[in-house]
Amino acid sequence: SITPATLSAISNGAKLGILFKGGVHIEGLSKIRAIALDKTGTLTKGEPEITDLILREGISQADFLIYTASIENHSTHPLAQAIVNYTKLEKQLQLLQPDFIEDIPGRGVTGKVSDREWKIGNAEFVGDDISKQFLKMNHNKFTKSGKTLVFIADYQGIVGVIALKDRIREQSKEAIHEFNKLGIYTFMLTGDDEDTARTISKEMSVDGHISRCLPEDKLKHVKELKKRYENVAMVGDGINDAPALASANLGIAMGTGTDVALETADIILMKNDLSKIPKAIYLSKKMNRVIK
Ligand code: ADP
Ligand code: MG
Repeated sequence: SITPATLSAISNGAKLGILFKGGVHIEGLSKIRAIALDKTGTLTKGEPEITDLILREGISQADFLIYTASIENHSTHPLAQAIVNYTKLEKQLQLLQPDFIEDIPGRGVTGKVSDREWKIGNAEFVGDDISKQFLKMNHNKFTKSGKTLVFIADYQGIVGVIALKDRIREQSKEAIHEFNKLGIYTFMLTGDDEDTARTISKEMSVDGHISRCLPEDKLKHVKELKKRYENVAMVGDGINDAPALASANLGIAMGTGTDVALETADIILMKNDLSKIPKAIYLSKKMNRVIK
């Protein structure tokens, strides 16, 4: 049965914009000793903007964008949406219908458009060697700090790179600060490359991070954290976070997260505001003291 104290905690949570899918999770919050955090969409806004385009010789910018965006149009990833919006709205280009596409969470997409097959994603996905070589050949024409690089390859190699910059959520930074004060270990898990991961994790002052995580890697690291810290929360927003959210003692989803993330989580942050979590922890600690 639900006690008046629990009910009042749930309603206080609602006022903060925190949806608890059951009273048990309020007590769970007070026990958390480590928290794993996804990068894109959780620590950052998940609304990346295109800052640089670098193309191989022999392809026009319009063709490059049309092929890339036509495939990305079938992916729900925030990077995909940014590329599609840029192509359609900013450049006013018409997309094509791809013959097939495959979305590979945490890595990228492949697809066929205009009789050519394309691979779009991070360096590892298209090939570390050729992506490094391409960047070197183009003299790293942009400052990489905190930017995510999306590589586009065809059967001949890298055709181009799109650099995108996402903004961090100030409330997430504030939350990390509070977690530190509460003695909760903070750990960022991202599918992005190491350079970007390092920059963002420094900016956010998290205690540790792991880059190039596939969905199953995020799950694996949450399990390892559980061994070390016993009570572990995970915050995420994407399909790629769902296994880790399910495995954590407490799964927390951003309100704008994908359906799977929202379904899997125990707690939903309606306003995407992570700083409400430490506030709720203080509340739940107070509640436990009242009950005991
Ligand atoms: P995060 O863990 O930070 O939320 P993801 O796991 O969703 O990031 O993605 C990891 C990386 O895989 C991205 O940084 C990007 O390089 C690549 N990626 C994934 N999906 C796509 C896509 N649809 N288009 C381009 N790149 C993608
Ligand atoms: Mg994410």
